[in-house]
Amino acid sequence: MPAYDNPVDECSGRGTPCDVRDTVKNSFTFGPVPSRRLGRSLGVDLVPFKTCTYDCIYCQLGRTTNKTTTRSEYYPVKDIIQEVKKKLREISRPHYITLSGSGEPTLHSRIGDIIRKIKDITDIPVAVLTNGSLFWIDEVRNAVLEADLIIPSLDAGDEGTFLYINRPHEDISFKKMADGLCSLRESYKGSIWLEVFLAGGITDKETEIEKIKTWTGRINPERIQLNTAVRTPAEDSVRLVSKKKMEEIAGFFGPHCEVIADYSKIHDLGEFHTTQDDVLELLKRRPCSVSDISSGLGLHRNEAIKYVQELLDQYLIRMERRDNKVLYIGDVNKTKNEC
Ligand code: SF4
Repeated sequence: MPAYDNPVDECSGRGTPCDVRDTVKNSFTFGPVPSRRLGRSLGVDLVPFKTCTYDCIYCQLGRTTNKTTTRSEYYPVKDIIQEVKKKLREISRPHYITLSGSGEPTLHSRIGDIIRKIKDITDIPVAVLTNGSLFWIDEVRNAVLEADLIIPSLDAGDEGTFLYINRPHEDISFKKMADGLCSLRESYKGSIWLEVFLAGGITDKETEIEKIKTWTGRINPERIQLNTAVRTPAEDSVRLVSKKKMEEIAGFFGPHCEVIADYSKIHDLGEFHTTQDDVLELLKRRPCSVSDISSGLGLHRNEAIKYVQELLDQYLIRMERRDNKVLYIGDVNKTKNEC
């Protein structure tokens, strides 16, 4: 049963990751959020929180709770489309509608229908933000052909590094994944912007960069976009690559490569870093939705979701439904040490 059918009643207080939503049904879209790459982007989340084929060491959402390659209609297409339609009536025109969110969107078995139906209701370009792990499956490749832009990831140049960085589901080998990206390039007529995440001390070494470059040459994307750990990753061991080094590496990849890591976030982290305790303190003072937490503490929505899930897991907060809105409430009698 999709969790959205009854997320509140199903929840024991501990909650499942997909329960971390603002409302029962009006919960597939987020934003529009300002995106350096996409301008104002209306996000559409197609799968429950951390339903993913990978468990990347750099994931900002924490560890993957449902690592799977099973494709399914996680949420009904008609509900997603209805909400996109409603949202587009309410907001000013975004630059992109982006299928992404808190897991791997190509795991939604009807992503092709979703793209087509969005294009039936609007001419706003549709982007797919994907980890690129499933394009070796013909059905997945064919499903995204009508998207205007695909932004897949490639974070390694060989099997060993792939296993270390992306911790993929056992069905996915590096060769399968990378060949899938090459096949996508052959059949897809739109733009591919390949995102490469570089982990300091691991994939910023010359030998690793050379291996990745061999594959970017084969995949032949319109753009290569370099990122690094400017925000809190899943594993503390993941290190930032300096801006200077990232720019040198971008030069090595050639003119179609750019650094997209937002180094201004590092300054933000130094002075205003929001912690799990800040979220707990806020929720002890007043019940909040994920959106309230995100706007109140200046957090990205996905980070707010991550903190809420961690606090639910520790039984430090509980979830309540009021006026069709899901609110989180801190238990004033509990401290972290008790758990
Ligand atoms: S970074 Fe993306 S692909 Fe990697 S585990 Fe997180 S959601 Fe999945």
